[in-house]
Amino acid sequence: MIDLTLTQALEKLNNREISAVELTQHYLNRIEKYGADLNCYITVTPERALADAAASDARRSAGNTLPLDGIPIAMKDLFATCSIRTTAASRMLENFIPEYESTVSQKFIDAGTVLLGKANLDEFAMGTFSKTSFFGAPINPWQLDKQLTAGGSSGGSTSAVAGGLALGATGTDTGGSIRFPAAITGLVGMKPTYGLCSRWGCIAFASSLDTPGPIARTVDDTALLLSAMAGHDPKDSTSSTNGFTCNAPLTPVLGDGHKLRIGVIREFSNVAISDDMRTLFEKRIADLKSMGAEIVEVSIPNILDALAAYYIIAPAEASSNLARYDGMRYGLRVEGKDIYDTFKKTRAAGFGDEVKRRMIIGTAVLSSESYDVYFMQAARVRRMIADSFNTAFEQCDLIVCPASAGTAMPLNSDLTPLEYYALDLFTVAMNLAGVPACSVPCGLATNGLPLGMQVVGRRFDDMRVLQLAKHIETVAAVDNRPTVIMGK
Ligand code: GLN
Repeated sequence: MIDLTLTQALEKLNNREISAVELTQHYLNRIEKYGADLNCYITVTPERALADAAASDARRSAGNTLPLDGIPIAMKDLFATCSIRTTAASRMLENFIPEYESTVSQKFIDAGTVLLGKANLDEFAMGTFSKTSFFGAPINPWQLDKQLTAGGSSGGSTSAVAGGLALGATGTDTGGSIRFPAAITGLVGMKPTYGLCSRWGCIAFASSLDTPGPIARTVDDTALLLSAMAGHDPKDSTSSTNGFTCNAPLTPVLGDGHKLRIGVIREFSNVAISDDMRTLFEKRIADLKSMGAEIVEVSIPNILDALAAYYIIAPAEASSNLARYDGMRYGLRVEGKDIYDTFKKTRAAGFGDEVKRRMIIGTAVLSSESYDVYFMQAARVRRMIADSFNTAFEQCDLIVCPASAGTAMPLNSDLTPLEYYALDLFTVAMNLAGVPACSVPCGLATNGLPLGMQVVGRRFDDMRVLQLAKHIETVAAVDNRPTVIMGK
């Protein structure tokens, strides 16, 4: 069962070759065996999983099969799940049990999936290695002995899927948190167009950038998950009425006389990346060319300023969003001598260092002395980047670029906050512009670890993004089955 992709498992379920209970039990056994090593789940929900699976088998027998009936998944612990602890990997919400279900997790219930548990992440999704989690960092299953990062902030999701502890998972991507972790764990991670998936019930980090999306082992699996997640939600004012429906497998956009212009971003060509990344990226471009794509150079003049703009806008929004954790309404409360003292003590004890750093930066850039020079300036850069993407997409249909500079780094790498922030160079611009971007494995580096590249599209061109990603997946042919763990 461990070799099955989500699409294959669904086929076997539908053909009655396996039952949802069997499949779920298989995953629960693997969680039992490897869950502690990978630290990928904050909360495992075995009773719920088996009940979901039994209900799924009953639906199938009755002929009421749902689109993803019986598929075991992990839910990033940023999505509120009714009656199930939802922590955002923060001490602040260590014991928070929501009384409502997020739209995304509800959509997965409606699609018939089985909930295995809540996946680990960076605290409030702020980070790149999932090291800011109050529950400790998840581990990359590729070279277990090396204790490498599974990326962040959706690092529990990627650790679980890469390690064969879930068939698919949800993530959220505010500045790269789906694509970067997927890239360094050999998985496919899709940041859809902003607004395609509802943010309702997803604990807010930076609301104008937060984008829920799927993580899986193949592009077809990813497209299936996105079909379940996407859709208009009146409870999210930024939710789009453009849906996304895909009955996998995805169809080709290259070959057979298809004309496709693929853009390569000029400004990224001078950014330092590993030799392996450069070689593999160039190889995949050559492959796309030989399949009939026209490769064109495009320019996003301000793209290298995206990092600075992001690290102003995201903390600004975060400082506002996280003001609600004051010890009065949610989660932790540390009593002080008066109400202000209670606020202070609660926040001091409840938030980790990185979250505090963001709140301080965010409050500073929004202060009256700094607003014009920092926040407004960042907002202008954001506008220019979004406009440049529009202009670039007049010259090409899709854009490709690396997803990261190199492979997964050891968790104990001693990076400064700014060095962590710099790792988001290839991903943040797409959040600022709201465009869809998918990270797909493009090969293995000489150290045996996976590397990923991105396909970026026009707003709401999510389908073609996935279609091109599938071509890359096919030519790269990375074997991302969890052999390391299997051979343990
Ligand atoms: N690494 C980025 C940050 O720390 C992105 C996080 C995210 O996308 N949630 O903000």
